Amino acid sequence: MSVQVVAAKMAEVELKDVSPGKELPAGSPVTPTSEDKTAARSDPREAGAAAAEPSAKAGEGSRGLLTPNTAKMPQASALKHSDPQQNGGEAFVNRDGTVAEAPRMKKIQFADQKQEFNKRPSKIGRRSLSRSISQSSTDSYSSAASYTDSSDDETSPRDKQQKNSKGNGDFCIKNIKQADFGRREIEIAEQEMPALMALRKRAQGEKPLAGAKVVGCTHITAQTAVLMETLSALGAQCRWAACNIYSTQNEVAAALAEGGFNVFAWKGESEDDFWWCIDRCVNVEGWQPNMILDDGGDLTHWIYKKYPNMFKKIKGIVEESVTGVHRLYQLSKAGKLCVPAMNVNDSVTKQKFDNLYCCRESILDGLKRTTDVMFGGKQVVVCGYGEVGKGCCAALKAMGSIVYVTEIDPICALQACMDGFRLVKLNEVIRQVDIVITCTGNKNVVVREHLDRMKNSCIVCNMGHSNTEIDVASLRTPELTWERVRSQVDHVIWPDGKRIVLLAEGRLLNLSCSTVPTFVLSITATTQALALIELYNAPEGRYKQDVYLLPKKMDEYVASLHLPTFDAHLTELSDEQAKYLGLNKNGPFKPNYYRY
Ligand code: NAD
Repeated sequence: MSVQVVAAKMAEVELKDVSPGKELPAGSPVTPTSEDKTAARSDPREAGAAAAEPSAKAGEGSRGLLTPNTAKMPQASALKHSDPQQNGGEAFVNRDGTVAEAPRMKKIQFADQKQEFNKRPSKIGRRSLSRSISQSSTDSYSSAASYTDSSDDETSPRDKQQKNSKGNGDFCIKNIKQADFGRREIEIAEQEMPALMALRKRAQGEKPLAGAKVVGCTHITAQTAVLMETLSALGAQCRWAACNIYSTQNEVAAALAEGGFNVFAWKGESEDDFWWCIDRCVNVEGWQPNMILDDGGDLTHWIYKKYPNMFKKIKGIVEESVTGVHRLYQLSKAGKLCVPAMNVNDSVTKQKFDNLYCCRESILDGLKRTTDVMFGGKQVVVCGYGEVGKGCCAALKAMGSIVYVTEIDPICALQACMDGFRLVKLNEVIRQVDIVITCTGNKNVVVREHLDRMKNSCIVCNMGHSNTEIDVASLRTPELTWERVRSQVDHVIWPDGKRIVLLAEGRLLNLSCSTVPTFVLSITATTQALALIELYNAPEGRYKQDVYLLPKKMDEYVASLHLPTFDAHLTELSDEQAKYLGLNKNGPFKPNYYRY
């Protein structure tokens, strides 16, 4: 089935019978109904957060065929980190909370480690795998790493007179001469972003974002460029800044500027540059944004702080990251959210791709790049059998590893058993395993006692939450020697010579040491585009000053737009079947509480 056919089918849908159920994360400030409770999520990242459904029926009255009739305070923490665990600093925090000097630690300095947060890096490694370090903008798991270098030119882009070939100078990037190179990067990304390309094709006849003035703050990468150019094809004007000081692909920013986009970003911004770029996006004469697309909440925060009146014209905020979404829920709870906001982070499709499929691919990539380990026959213990754990286990099993699982939840534990994994306590296997992977979202899952008992050369890494899962601080004691053997790889050596291989200092392995497939980013970008279309076109009153999940119908639409890539043939319900199941033939096909 062609993209157009799928899209057209979705577009035909009338949503009059969309169930008005809410999908509320646990701890919602909104009193949940019994149905809500069934749907309550237990994602630890979202504790205290709520999502509401549109007050009107989803999708009612949307204009535009592209809508399938459905519908710190933020901190630039990359800029301010003082946590030695995060930045490899020389001080460390003892287990009792006191700060001490670093243990004996031999460290090889790599190019990508030399940058300090508030300094303009003079040179950045040619193929730096270090991702954005900002908490606010890396907690979107589909953030992209920048592969490419900036030039050797140390002049700040802010000090340069810049113009593209058409004489437009309303942008600030590293080097406009890299535009051709950036264009090739964008074209490569387009190949793996079929849904956005399909939206563009469909846009030939209509512009669902005509009049939209989108101010964006995301990673500026080839994949974001595909999104921006899609928004533009759908009628939007865009001004964009980077949500992270390191992740900008300079050549992509150049290609965007050459193409007429107002981009303010370069790799290696200082903190001052970071906020300056955001300000240049919003503080411009004769142009006011009416939509926000944010990743991390910094842009939203800036507008709240500096230009609160702008919210009079803003129709909505689309937020991608866990942190940004959490802040929106906090604003909502405090009654301070003044426009509707869409939480795209928790869409089903995006979650599945970020957590399950992305981790299934990137666990091997991260381990291989850092250690060159061979997986066949290796004994691996995976802590946590949620979405991330399931992905990791599946990949390792397929490679011939012997996989053990630890779990606290009997349901997930039973799933692990049914999938053929041995369910164990960590203590039972810690002496024998070759690799330990944490994926729990919890803290102190691997502690010093475990680390003491691991065998020589055991690889220890985290795919779960931030840097809390492995008690890395407990390894910063004087009797242990740290040896930095590669970028993101430390050997921690015991007095008897035993060494363990700690990856990314316990931070997320895949975000630190591998890349995210473009197809995963395609899901996110399509969800963002549809969320913008929905909020921009929603009739007055459908969305209040609250945080909403993308209507399920649109979530299904995101998935359907990706199916043609696989020449996948979706079965259609007959009238009789639809009636039997009590469904609209065109969806939504599942209730909100359905667990995929
Ligand atoms: P999940 O809730 O589906 O799974 C976590 C599992 O860990 C649960 O089944 C839970 O019962 C189990 N668990 C909790 N404490 C445990 C313990 N002490 N020992 C053993 N098991 C324990 O969550 P998820 O979607 O799998 O995500 C897990 C974490 O990974 C989250 O912090 C999430 O933010 C993060 N995440 C990482 C990536 C990435 O790219 N690395 C992507 C998405 C999510």
